[in-house]
Amino acid sequence: MPTEALPHELCALENTSSVLPFIPLMVGERDVGRYQADGTIKCDILDALRTERLVMQVKPHVYAMHIDDGAVTHPGGSNNYFVGDPKGDMVLIDTGDHHRAWTKSILDYYKALGSPKITGILITHSHGDHIGGLDRIHEATSAPIRCHPKLAERLGKIVGPEAVVSLRSRELMKTGGGVTLRALFTPGHEVDHVCYYLRQDSVLFTGDTILGGSSTTVGDLSSSMKSLQLLSSFRHDTICPAHGPVVPPPQGARLVQQYINHRNEREAQVLAALAKGITDVAEIVRDIYPRNLKRGLRHAAERNVQTHLAKLTRERRVAVSPARYSLTG
Ligand SMILES: [Zn+2]
Repeated sequence: MPTEALPHELCALENTSSVLPFIPLMVGERDVGRYQADGTIKCDILDALRTERLVMQVKPHVYAMHIDDGAVTHPGGSNNYFVGDPKGDMVLIDTGDHHRAWTKSILDYYKALGSPKITGILITHSHGDHIGGLDRIHEATSAPIRCHPKLAERLGKIVGPEAVVSLRSRELMKTGGGVTLRALFTPGHEVDHVCYYLRQDSVLFTGDTILGGSSTTVGDLSSSMKSLQLLSSFRHDTICPAHGPVVPPPQGARLVQQYINHRNEREAQVLAALAKGITDVAEIVRDIYPRNLKRGLRHAAERNVQTHLAKLTRERRVAVSPARYSLTG
């Protein structure tokens, strides 16, 4: 299931993308363009982006494969990352969705990097737009799949159990260029979510826990808040998300805290609505979200409010009244 991110106008992050000094796109040593505020790319050799020759180097050991997947739910397209040294070993983060075009983009990009040895395919979480190309990419690289233990059995059914090795929490993995990635278990968006930390380049690969161009959906808010706190404890200046533009310094260093603040503000708004005597999810949404919310987004907003109410209920700060019943027909 793809991520359903709330668009800019729904979240406190709405102004962050418009002030990003957009990260340069590099072709070798040549700077050829910039990300735009809307997540699209301004590039003077745009065609090069669509060929296998473009290699976008985000940091010394980080190469981003950006794809405009056209999904309205997460503005700014999607990213897969190769991490390490193209002349030595690399790892790949996520495998895209099941569409052949996406798999081809990853494999073309891999060729453009010189087909380095891939020592691991690191999965951020179980949603289809992250594991869809798993079998084809495993076949092309023969690399072991590394994932959260809760996901191992399911992925083993796709590529064979011997090809999947569960991660341990905080496990360090070596890759080319003498750098290491640390696996950070970060439930919230999904129970099996893992972020990866590249200390040497000061980068957090955040999967769908933090997005580059919008807010993200949360399954379990209590876990999500703990995961955000965990991420904030690893010093970084750049966020490499699965969707939306890469967030470079200085904003990259602030984004996790902005997510935390945003969730705290939403919680305060929900509590304020309850204090006014509003007791119904749809009414709370009407109270705290913009009036002209489109219908599709109202659904997402309601789910968002529900996750806040579930957390507050678990914390015994909010009580749920029994449902009322009436005859049908
Ligand atoms: Zn996703």
